[in-house]
Amino acid sequence: MANSDCVGCGKPFTEVARSREHILPEWLAIEVEQPDLSLNQYRHNEDKVEDELLRSHDLGSFVIKNVCGDCNNGWMSRLEGRAKPMLLELMNMRASLLQLSGDQRTTLSAWAIKTAFMIASAQQSITDIPWHLFRQLGEEPERVPRECIVLAAQLQFLPKGFLYACPTDILPGSGRPTQIRLGFSIDHLHFVVVIPQFLAERVVRTSGVHVPIWPLDMEIRVVYENFPTLTSPADLINFLVGLVSAGIVSSRE
Ligand SMILES: [Zn+2]
Repeated sequence: MANSDCVGCGKPFTEVARSREHILPEWLAIEVEQPDLSLNQYRHNEDKVEDELLRSHDLGSFVIKNVCGDCNNGWMSRLEGRAKPMLLELMNMRASLLQLSGDQRTTLSAWAIKTAFMIASAQQSITDIPWHLFRQLGEEPERVPRECIVLAAQLQFLPKGFLYACPTDILPGSGRPTQIRLGFSIDHLHFVVVIPQFLAERVVRTSGVHVPIWPLDMEIRVVYENFPTLTSPADLINFLVGLVSAGIVSSRE
């Protein structure tokens, strides 16, 4: 999984120094980490009742090494700094997603997309990651790729801590991966980010719990879904990500 070039700027690691990037930034890991709680990584298997536990580790060691020091300490760190106050307010339910300005939604989306790329790159099951969209964020973090979709929710019943799930979306018939659909939650704040693996018009459908955040003019279809009583955090995050679907209308390729 070790890239030969930095995924944030495209420069080869023969020219720039490789650095350790925390998938969940350290300030946030401290915020959500609880003693004796480790991060359990599950793979959801449609054929099995139980989710398979892949590995268990603490958030501090959830790192990847595919970005250079310039990106890590430069644009990625500045983006963290801009998003941090808003994230803290939202995850502690002191601010509402419904009251964000366009600029705030743009910053929040840039942060959620960056984090989703980092989580995706730590998954062995995901191979086709469209890093050009990530580099676009690096060149100009305010120009968030319109191809990526961000939905969010604030849910009181989410357990404290960090959860994530990334089911694979395959184009029926071809077996081709269509998009990375990644859900994660930090305390009460929950995101689903859709990163397209090829360009196409997509129709996003979800239940009423998710608020469309990015693109700013996104239209979604909302359907009512009953919430089952879920007790395990793995079931909860899988259920929430499963509520969101992004169907391909027509392919531009
Ligand atoms: Zn770089």
